[in-house]
Amino acid sequence: GSSVETLEFQAETRQLLRLVIHSIYSNKDIFLRELISNASDALDRLRLESLTDSSLAGTGTTDPHIALEADKDARTLTVRDNGIGMTRDDLVELIGTIAKSGTAGLLEKIRDSKDAAGAESLIGQFGVGFYSAFMVADKVTLCTRRAGTDSGTRWESDGEGTYDLQAVDGLPVGTSVTLHLKPADGEDGLADYLSESKIRQIVKRYSDFIRWPIRMAAEHTGAEGGTAGDVDTLNSMKALWARPRTEVTEDEYNEFYRQISHDWPAPAGTIHMRAEGTFEYEALLFIPAQAPFDLFSRESRRGVQLYVKRVFIMDDCEALMPNYLRFVKGVVDAHDLSLNVSREILQHDRQIRGVRRRLVKKVLGAIKDMQSKDAERYAKVWAQFGRALKEGLVEDTDNTEALLELVSAASTHDPEKTTTLREYVERMKDGQDAVYYLTGESRAMVENSPHMEAFAAKGYEVLILTDPVDEVWVDRVPAFDGHRLQSIAKGRIDLDASAGDDQESGAEKARREEDFAALLTWLGTTLSEQVREVRLSSRLTTSAACVVGDAHDVTPTLEKMYRAMGQ
Ligand code: ADP
Ligand code: MG
Repeated sequence: GSSVETLEFQAETRQLLRLVIHSIYSNKDIFLRELISNASDALDRLRLESLTDSSLAGTGTTDPHIALEADKDARTLTVRDNGIGMTRDDLVELIGTIAKSGTAGLLEKIRDSKDAAGAESLIGQFGVGFYSAFMVADKVTLCTRRAGTDSGTRWESDGEGTYDLQAVDGLPVGTSVTLHLKPADGEDGLADYLSESKIRQIVKRYSDFIRWPIRMAAEHTGAEGGTAGDVDTLNSMKALWARPRTEVTEDEYNEFYRQISHDWPAPAGTIHMRAEGTFEYEALLFIPAQAPFDLFSRESRRGVQLYVKRVFIMDDCEALMPNYLRFVKGVVDAHDLSLNVSREILQHDRQIRGVRRRLVKKVLGAIKDMQSKDAERYAKVWAQFGRALKEGLVEDTDNTEALLELVSAASTHDPEKTTTLREYVERMKDGQDAVYYLTGESRAMVENSPHMEAFAAKGYEVLILTDPVDEVWVDRVPAFDGHRLQSIAKGRIDLDASAGDDQESGAEKARREEDFAALLTWLGTTLSEQVREVRLSSRLTTSAACVVGDAHDVTPTLEKMYRAMGQ
């Protein structure tokens, strides 16, 4: 071969490598994700360039793929692709230096950061990419030939300060990265990256949806273990979300849902969308048919996974879905994020916030759609997730209107059926300006409340709200469609004023006040410790008296709830 040239890494690269080698990352498995992602990018680029550059047509292969080779004797793991490849100059520029802006400042921050976790999150923002190979290898050999060129280059380094370059003839187009692995179970407790099951596990977790096949020669386990030369494809490659909606069958959606949710029944709703423009992403979201048992436990996690260009990044991506929609399952694949994007970064990313806003609207829209087109399905979804959705009325004031449209509640109108607020408003009596409700622990308790008497007698419909969360949202939501929400247990309600018929004249009222003045005064003094005021009421028909809250008082149920929470 030709002579070997030794070059120095750029100063920043050297520092970064030192950080990588002396391990900033607790999760070392990600090195494989990074190398596979580079190989996949290289295959994408070759395909793209051969479309526009006719001289490349034919230099590519008819079988684009990524191959993993584990050699237990040599203790090497190779990631090979037949993608675009690199020239010698590419290598110097892309692998020898870090072109990213802000590198120096970032490295300084990392050096100054006191704890390992802080350093890890900083480096995560930056992305170590190819260098992550040095977390698990003490030497890396990279052989590559750029499509459309005749000769290749061999690059090798121990990551310390320099790397060797050598021209090599006879290399195939593409790149192979060979890791000379550090000993497993060493001081830093490295996993055995030569183990087929470990490799399969990492590929499945991080790279399953890479759209090129990732192949590995099968290990032989005796006579029945397969014949020499057997090659397995480790990834499913099926990024359903990247396919056009019209080409995906319902069965495929349901199967995919089962795969990501570990839930058996088919989902109640599927949302598949693609956003183009400055921030491209695909989203495939599902509204399950049944709530998980732990929907209301503190440990309940959000169901949306984040991918970046088919590479799995994280589960439970809270930046993409608000807490009250934690039951929504699915995948968001963003095209323009770093693989190392952290939860903190996502929380503050303006574009991610935009994505979240849009996804929330889509989910609420899908449920609204069910309500108008498939009432039975909507009713099931509401029965499962209504309580969670009502949390949204407290958490997400941007979507109050949309959420109120979805609310279903029991009502005095029909003991068998629930009603929406819209239906309630349509039934409101002439002159009625508020939506009346009463909260309580059970339907029976609410129905038998003395507060109900006058409303029942005068034919006013009252919503019966028995979820603990009802106590909270009714206080936060000022009105539905211009009609204030009014608890019939709070404040002064003058039913006669709004009733129209059955009016008590002013003179009659004044006479009654006079008749009862002595009693009211006596009651007021006797009960002065317990109540603020005793007054005549038109609320009651058969009961003699009832206790009414102030307009802004907490209700008895809420009081109980607060006490249970230790407040
Ligand atoms: P990133 O992928 O974020 O650009 P990396 O450190 O992973 O950062 O890779 C640096 C660059 O090296 C890539 O952008 C690419 O140009 C080049 N590169 C790495 N691996 C390969 C490969 N297998 N084939 C072709 N080019 C590669
Ligand atoms: Mg990369």
